Amino acid sequence: MDDIHQLTISQAHRLLQERKTSSVELTKASLRHLHEVEDKVHACVTVSEDAALRQAEEADEAISTGTTNPLTGIPALVKDNMCTEGIKTTCSSRILEDFVPPYDATVIEKLKAHKAVILGKTNMDEFAMGSSTEHSAFFPTRNPWDLDCVPGGSSGGSCVAVAADAAVYALGSDTGGSIRQPAGFCSVVGLKPTYGRVSRFGLVAFASSLDQIGPITKTVADSALVMNVIAGHDPRDSTSVSNPVPDYTEALIPDLKNVRIGIPQEYFVEGIQDEVRISVQAAIKKLGELGAKIDWEASLPHTKYALAAYYIVAPSEASANLARYDGVKYGFSYQDTRNMWQAMEKTKQYGFGDEVKRRIMLGTYALSAGYYDAYYLKAQKVRTLIRWEFDQAFEKYDALVTPTSPTLPFKIGEKVDDPMQMYLSDVCTLPINIAGVPAISIPAGFANGLPIGMQIIGKPFDEETVLHIAFAYEQATDWHNRKPPV
Ligand code: GLN
Repeated sequence: MDDIHQLTISQAHRLLQERKTSSVELTKASLRHLHEVEDKVHACVTVSEDAALRQAEEADEAISTGTTNPLTGIPALVKDNMCTEGIKTTCSSRILEDFVPPYDATVIEKLKAHKAVILGKTNMDEFAMGSSTEHSAFFPTRNPWDLDCVPGGSSGGSCVAVAADAAVYALGSDTGGSIRQPAGFCSVVGLKPTYGRVSRFGLVAFASSLDQIGPITKTVADSALVMNVIAGHDPRDSTSVSNPVPDYTEALIPDLKNVRIGIPQEYFVEGIQDEVRISVQAAIKKLGELGAKIDWEASLPHTKYALAAYYIVAPSEASANLARYDGVKYGFSYQDTRNMWQAMEKTKQYGFGDEVKRRIMLGTYALSAGYYDAYYLKAQKVRTLIRWEFDQAFEKYDALVTPTSPTLPFKIGEKVDDPMQMYLSDVCTLPINIAGVPAISIPAGFANGLPIGMQIIGKPFDEETVLHIAFAYEQATDWHNRKPPV
């Protein structure tokens, strides 16, 4: 078989079970293909080939004794903001360029416990701040559907790798849309779980009250399989919850009888491209044909304040979280100075890129005496209001459906010097992090050869309904089967 790198998790698992292939064979095929496409897309920061092959050998041993999980022996990539013991974790930043963590993030521990194979680490916007992966300190990642376009961000590398079959699946992180927006731009499935569902231990913090790790996969069924492994309580993350983890694959039912779906009008106005609106509306009609009861008149009027609130809360938390990169404890350290203060100053000056500096300044300003009440406190109140509004909506609906992003993938360079335009790329995804609820982006069409994503939003800890609707839609369409030209 020369196309085994194209398999989904479910397909690869079956072949491994039937001994029709081995993890080593699968891993080698993935690596071969990864190197082929990497020249064009630049999705990876680190490829840990030797470690991956060792893990594959161990997986084959486990398979031969019969004890396996669907992820056993399957090659994955991980966004470069999750700590991997002995393997560089850079956050695509100069300041962590040579940082090798002495421990694994909980999600990595869990993957390893099931003998998953980790091929390496993917490129991202520096410290996950951005929507195009152009803010990586190393190189931009390119969209496999059109190499002149951005793949979205900040989990651009992970989404590109999955779309281009360089890995069977990947992990990303989502603070304001960083899993879903690039998933939409690359035509893959990206799930942001409920805040607290997946441990953040070992995830390099950007905005701690918003960050969440989630799966990036080729199909909805694969998303459920990864969630089964990564979800759950972790005593090392006090914000992770102890609700039992269901078997998410049980949610994969192909019809939508009795499912009530609300379409919040606020997500279809101002700035949305016609192509996106038309495709997503057609996709929603399809959900209706599958049995769902669609209410086109749902409303979340406070949506318009979400972007402003996010750009106070997220930078405020970032400014606190990034204070630790002082050149003393770990990471890049500027040495050639007269005193300690100058060393710290220079470390940050050379270690951080412009977007990161902008966030630190915004956050420091919003938290400073005299402005705290006017900005930070106000933003927190807006956050409460937005959360409450989602609660209200979920009394009437089982889920809400919106576009993932207001536009098609844009050209590299088009927005990189215009922060406001870049921030607007996440208008549809940010409110979901503010509310802390789960949401998925799934392939829902193409225009001009570029992918369009549909976002399905669920109640807190109801990833099952989100997966259910996503699965039914996927079964009834074949957008997810298209492969990018690369
Ligand atoms: N694009 C948003 C930002 O720059 C969200 C990023 C993310 O989810 N990590 O903050």
